[in-house]
Amino acid sequence: MSTALLFAVVVGAAGVLGVRWWRSMERGEDLSRCDRCGKARVLLDEETEDAHLDEGQQHEERLGTADYHVWWCESCERGRVVRHALEATRRRVECEKCGHDAAQEVMKTVAAATHVKGGELQVRLSCGGCGHTQQFVRYTPRVRTP
Ligand SMILES: [Zn+2]
Ligand SMILES: [Zn+2]
Repeated sequence: MSTALLFAVVVGAAGVLGVRWWRSMERGEDLSRCDRCGKARVLLDEETEDAHLDEGQQHEERLGTADYHVWWCESCERGRVVRHALEATRRRVECEKCGHDAAQEVMKTVAAATHVKGGELQVRLSCGGCGHTQQFVRYTPRVRTP
């Protein structure tokens, strides 16, 4: 086996294992196990995790600037909160004022879409051509279960 092929196999295998563990190995520590009792922790969903987040953390989630994950140990009744900074989504669009294609749209999630209601995005548009700026709200459809 050539060195290049061996390298590809090793990287491929690491990738497969990495995908399986990336959620639990946040910040290099295994959060799926409790550091106190060693039992398995569960990752709380968006509805139940709010009870374990403080006002500021919930506010950040609503603004879409950060996403929090809560790993919960049922036997210790202790949770571990992990913060993930969210990048605002950027994309290039055509400016409706001057037609320049250097306008940039920055989208931030105000409320994520759920099965019950649609989401809300805050969009800021700025054009590098004419300096036109615009800010508006865009609504996204409800999440449909396939
Ligand atoms: Zn525990
Ligand atoms: Zn423009």
